[in-house]
Amino acid sequence: MGTVASRLFGALRFWFAAIRDVLLPRGCAGCDKPDEVLCPSCASLFGHVYRKALPGNAGCCYGCSWYRGAVRQAILNWKDHGDEECDCAFALLLADLALKVLRQEGPYSRTRSLALVPAPSSASSMHRRGRWQTLPLVRLMARRLDRQGFSAVAKPVLKLEGVQGKSVQASSAQSRSRRIAGHVRVTEDLKGDDSLFIVIDDIMTTGATMGQCISALRAAGASNVIGLALACTPNRDE
Ligand SMILES: [Zn+2]
Repeated sequence: MGTVASRLFGALRFWFAAIRDVLLPRGCAGCDKPDEVLCPSCASLFGHVYRKALPGNAGCCYGCSWYRGAVRQAILNWKDHGDEECDCAFALLLADLALKVLRQEGPYSRTRSLALVPAPSSASSMHRRGRWQTLPLVRLMARRLDRQGFSAVAKPVLKLEGVQGKSVQASSAQSRSRRIAGHVRVTEDLKGDDSLFIVIDDIMTTGATMGQCISALRAAGASNVIGLALACTPNRDE
């Protein structure tokens, strides 16, 4: 009976989605161009490699776009307005960024074993959005990188504990960084794992949050850790 109900539910969902697509065709998440999840012109804005040194000697981090214009619009639609169809497009862009960084950065050019770690969200952010938004990105990235000859696994080992969440827009980078300082926990012992750990975040502002994630992974035994983000907020001179 359960199977019949779930088949019926699946069929209804399919037809509702088909009818919705006919009546309300979607637009590009960045510029609203019809019939695209992310149009080629907006996708090309995510095709860069920007390197950022992290504060406090935490290493470095890479982003594939600047957080402004159509990039900002696309990320806000995905993150705060439930446009989950962007998961796949963003995961592919982040996988491309990972491939470029691995190729061009000497110490990682022979790396084959990758542990992809989603940046943590607070319990209240996850409740508000209904999900941990970096987790599906990391799972899709792992599949993509596996097909490129890597051994890539999603490793959701970072948790934010005891943090009251606010949206990115409602708080400055500094106040977010202060709020999560000391609250990033690693749920596994990583000693002896010589994978390259890659923390995946959506938006990187000062890098303080990314730095705290990287430091927590190192303290848990991960020896090689870098960070990747979909977008970096530009510094004043950029
Ligand atoms: Zn577009």
